[in-house]
Amino acid sequence: MGKTPRVEAATDFESMLRDAALRVTRPRLAVLAAVHRHPHADTDSIIGSVREDLGAVSHQAVYDVLRALTGAGLVRRIQPSGSLARYESRVADNHHHVVCRSCGTIADVDCAAGHAPCLSTTDDHGFAIDEAEVVYWGVCPDCARAASPDA
Ligand SMILES: [Zn+2]
Ligand SMILES: [Zn+2]
Repeated sequence: MGKTPRVEAATDFESMLRDAALRVTRPRLAVLAAVHRHPHADTDSIIGSVREDLGAVSHQAVYDVLRALTGAGLVRRIQPSGSLARYESRVADNHHHVVCRSCGTIADVDCAAGHAPCLSTTDDHGFAIDEAEVVYWGVCPDCARAASPDA
């Protein structure tokens, strides 16, 4: 599970849904809460967390909610190559990710040069660019320690 320094203590999920013109439903609230609790969780982890809150909820229901929340911009979907889709609540700041090649752990990396500067390309080929996706690949501290226990 990725670590993030930004943990929303008492986010008002109901007004987030209303502000996004989405109907407030218990599955939507539970999925939103699960994504906030577990940044970069995959769908199965989110389903597990939602079931702790609501009891029986179908996979399809959770997929549908994730699609609605992603479409409304409340949740961001990322999918590093070779990884399952992951979801996070930190949206619209164009932050990047560092991914462990060994265990798949993901952590947030802020834009290196300030506010979404990575959107400025040297040549945009005429595209109206609204997102830059940067993935740093490497080995996380835990895996590095496991590979060389004496270090
Ligand atoms: Zn690792
Ligand atoms: Zn992130």
